[in-house]
Amino acid sequence: QARLLFPLIALMRVALDLQTSGALFARIFEYLDLRPAIVDAPDAAPLPAGAPRLGEVAFDGVTFRYPDARGGERATLNDVSFAIEPGQYAAFVGPSGAGKTTVSYLIPRFYEATSGSVRFAGRDVRDIDRESLVSHIGVVSQETYLFHATIAENLRYAKVDATQSELETAARAANIHETIMSFPDGYETVVGERGYRLSGGEKQRIAIARVLLKDPEVLVLDEATSALDTISERVVQQALDAASHGRTTIAIAHRLSTVVGADVIYVVDHGRIVEHGTHSELLAVGGAYARLYAEQAAAPSPARLSRPA
Ligand code: ATP
Repeated sequence: QARLLFPLIALMRVALDLQTSGALFARIFEYLDLRPAIVDAPDAAPLPAGAPRLGEVAFDGVTFRYPDARGGERATLNDVSFAIEPGQYAAFVGPSGAGKTTVSYLIPRFYEATSGSVRFAGRDVRDIDRESLVSHIGVVSQETYLFHATIAENLRYAKVDATQSELETAARAANIHETIMSFPDGYETVVGERGYRLSGGEKQRIAIARVLLKDPEVLVLDEATSALDTISERVVQQALDAASHGRTTIAIAHRLSTVVGADVIYVVDHGRIVEHGTHSELLAVGGAYARLYAEQAAAPSPARLSRPA
């Protein structure tokens, strides 16, 4: 059963990565006669635009164990609690395997908490119609999915009725417009498999343009672990700053540069939050964060915070 679960979760990840409707993917599951692992409660209600506290994300004593994790092992997340206010920039840092990415999976309900409660806009995510939940969350992940289609079509997965001028506004803010214009057919250039090949940094900026078109209240940012060169890193970073502006941002951070200015940093270790605070508060405490920081400062550039060599 776990085997069957993975392609489904991969598909749902693609849906979120495309910033598109989960309904399309639900229909694919139906066609394939597969039952998605995560089903809505019969009384799950949509979360309409303009609902109060949109953008608030909280974990309340969340413990989580992967469905296929062998018994007896420690849970991946253990009694994790935090509350992120609308518009805050929150960064999750910690060693590899600590559980940071898993936190990001539970917010759009790729998986459900084993116990405790994941809350969105003050409601348990199990009580929110999943389609509606996903409509309020944008993701920029390490892998951006591009269809074998034109750039314009790839962008419109985030907003089917976007006008050309909306596409260009989003692409400009994502620092990718000029690059697109330099391609053989501009926005009509066919990309994806067998198409024009985009670099990692270019794909990421396409993902950022999609987020800007979708305009969700919450942005989940799974920072690339593979190093981009300094110039594309700066260009991507500027685009990310534009995308996180005015919305709750949850960054799974691997580099220090994106963490220093965060409103709050959560340090995760062995599935628990061991410290939280701002960069300067955590340095003053002289604990786990200060050690990660020192390690990173000692590492050669481009240094990573969370994966000591
Ligand atoms: P990194 O910085 O390396 O990305 P992370 O802090 O994001 O690490 P997670 O990816 O959340 O860590 O993984 C936490 C733990 O859960 C790890 O021990 C990992 O092996 C385990 N894990 C991750 N995905 C699964 C899965 N699908 N099934 C079982 N265990 C998993």
